[in-house]
Amino acid sequence: MERTLAIIKPDAVARGKIGEIIRRFEKAGLRISALKMVHLDKRQAEEFYHVHRARPFFDSLTTFMASGPVAVLVLEGETAISTLRAIMGATDPARASPGTIRRDLGTSIEQNTVHGSDSPESAAFEVPYFFQGPETFDYVRVDRHKGGDGPSS
Ligand code: GDP
Repeated sequence: MERTLAIIKPDAVARGKIGEIIRRFEKAGLRISALKMVHLDKRQAEEFYHVHRARPFFDSLTTFMASGPVAVLVLEGETAISTLRAIMGATDPARASPGTIRRDLGTSIEQNTVHGSDSPESAAFEVPYFFQGPETFDYVRVDRHKGGDGPSS
C-alpha cells in the first residue's frame, strides 16, 4: 500500500470545489486515511515547498498557498502516488488532459487546484509534515453500494 499527500489549494477551496475534488479522489478508488483544513502561513508554505526555493515562481507560489485555507488529505491505495498524479493532470491546466481535475477546475499554472506528492520520497516528507500517527486511519473500504460513486459501481 502506498500513501500520498493531496492538497486542495486555496483557489479550489474559495470556489467551493472541495466536494467535487474529494469525489474524484474516491471515484478513483483512493481511500481517505486522513483529512483536515489548515491555513498555512508564508513560512510554512516555504518550508513545505522548499524543493522549489530556487525556482522563479517560489515567492508567488508560497504567497498563493498562504492566501487562504487549504484542505489536506492522506490518500491510500496500491499505486496511490501515480493514481493521484494521473487524475490531477499536468501542472498547467491548459496542457492537462480532458477529464483531469486541473483541466476541469484549474485556472492558471499556479492556481491549479490540487497538489499531489510526486514520488515516494516526497510523500515520506509531505505526509508527516501535516499528519501525526493518530490522525491517520486504517479501515477497509467496501465498494458494494450500487449506483454510487465507487469504482465498482
Ligand atoms: P506539480 O508537481 O505538478 O504540482 O508541479 P511543480 O512541482 O513543478 O510545481 C509546484 C507548483 O508550483 C505547481 O503545482 C504550481 O502551483 C506552481 N507552479 C509550477 N510552475 C509554475 C510556473 O511556471 N509559474 C507559477 N507562477 N507557478 C508555477
